[in-house]
Amino acid sequence: MTEVHTIHVVGGGLAGSEAAWQIAESGHRAVIHEMRPLRPTEAHRTEGLAELVCSNSFRSDDPNGNAVGLLHQEMRSLSSLIMRAGDAHQVPAGGALAVDRDGFSAAVTAALEAHPNVEIRREAVDDLPPESWGSTIVATGPLTDPGLAEAIRALTGAESLAFFDAIAPIVHRDSIDMGKAWFQSRYDKAGPGGTGADYINCPLDREQYDAFIAALIAGEKTSFKEWEASTPYFDGCLPIEVMAERGPETLRHGPMKPVGLTNPHNPTVKACAIVQLRQDNALGTLYNMVGFQTKLRHAEQVRIFRTIPGLENADFARLGGLHRNTYLDSPRLLDATLRLKARPSLRFAGQITGCEGYVESAAIGLMAGRFAVAEAEGRALAPLPQTTALGALIAHITGGHVAAEDAGAPRSFQPMNVNFGLFPPLERMPRNETGRRLRGPEKAALKKRALTDRARADLAAWIAGDAPRAAAE
Ligand SMILES: Cc1cc2nc3c(=O)[nH]c(=O)nc-3n(C[C@H](O)[C@H](O)[C@H](O)COP(=O)(O)OP(=O)(O)OC[C@H]3O[C@@H](n4cnc5c(N)ncnc54)[C@H](O)[C@@H]3O)c2cc1C
Repeated sequence: MTEVHTIHVVGGGLAGSEAAWQIAESGHRAVIHEMRPLRPTEAHRTEGLAELVCSNSFRSDDPNGNAVGLLHQEMRSLSSLIMRAGDAHQVPAGGALAVDRDGFSAAVTAALEAHPNVEIRREAVDDLPPESWGSTIVATGPLTDPGLAEAIRALTGAESLAFFDAIAPIVHRDSIDMGKAWFQSRYDKAGPGGTGADYINCPLDREQYDAFIAALIAGEKTSFKEWEASTPYFDGCLPIEVMAERGPETLRHGPMKPVGLTNPHNPTVKACAIVQLRQDNALGTLYNMVGFQTKLRHAEQVRIFRTIPGLENADFARLGGLHRNTYLDSPRLLDATLRLKARPSLRFAGQITGCEGYVESAAIGLMAGRFAVAEAEGRALAPLPQTTALGALIAHITGGHVAAEDAGAPRSFQPMNVNFGLFPPLERMPRNETGRRLRGPEKAALKKRALTDRARADLAAWIAGDAPRAAAE
């Protein structure tokens, strides 16, 4: 390598720290701009880099049966600082990787402070990074400071940053009982590019509806953090339990309205209410529950939503929630290497891109760092296969939703944890040694094993193909 390039990183959280590490380890210079401790956020408590603001868990560490466990493994194979520090500061947590949060953050901070290619500036960036910085990664997280958030919003368009994250639950398509549910768009409207049968519909009779409303009202809710309480709901974004409290009929005149839909399993009986699920990814493996944003506790969501006919065995890729968040409409705004189309010298990483979670944020930081390095060195980085956890996550952020919109199912882009629903389905279902068809947990376990084996093989091939970088390691 001849020329050393400088790449700026705004934000020294999970994503920014990992991005800076990847840049520095490749022989280039990383300048981190972190506003703490000069300016706090509502959630951070320390001045450490990569502070964990809430739980201390990186979730499952199982690389064979869990998508986030696979992501851990992939990040380790790409020399992740976040995973190195996490492994070094692990605390007992069964199959999960949980960490001593102070030890973890201190280790990340020390590694970056000690690295000869890293400079850490404790300063807030209150406007768009100046053009003179050249290649810059913005990794300022869900609590991006208002001045910068406003500047990004002005650059990307008024609707492009969300400041209250209303999350509806997302269900794995193959766990929905289509013996009770059916495909149909309201009034069979095809819309631009749709088929007239784009939604999955789950019918409730009067008794089921009344019981559902009663369960919503009685269900245990999570409370707002003090600083969240004053953040207004977006219009049309009320939690379903708040709507239910306004009157028992409110939901069947809102997101659960039964009009324009006929149940082919029971065509003569009119449903009292209908829950609609809309395709959530281009692969068609995930469906979101339309209008079902909620503050119910996760266990309560699973219990109550499984009383909906057709969802008795629903496997949830994510559960609903509401908390303050700042994230881009990335499928529209970012290119495949996380650059802002409107200003390609700016790259985004972490939760602000619409991934969700500590590990996912760091993973996107890792790739943003590598993309920036490849670009600075003037070499093309082959796209990550979507069959890998890293590739699936990037595809979700930069493309999955746009492709689905083209298919006629307009939606708002929502943050997402990594999960197997983001992976292309297997071409052939695996069989066990006896060759007989599998069912239940045995089938699920074998399918996950096949998905993760495919991911490992494809990541290894991708790393081997990334010759200059691989040679440098
Ligand atoms: C309240 C809350 C609780 C969460 N709990 C969990 C959880 O339990 N588990 C989980 O997996 N995920 C959780 N998340 C989601 C997410 O994983 C974390 O927010 C994660 O820290 C995101 O990583 P990041 O690098 O994108 O952002 P961060 O880790 O927040 O890093 C962003 C950094 O940018 C700095 N910064 C912001 N604006 C500026 C600016 N203008 N100039 C300079 N620096 C700036 C901040 O000080 C911060 O250090 C939570 C999020 C929130 C908001």
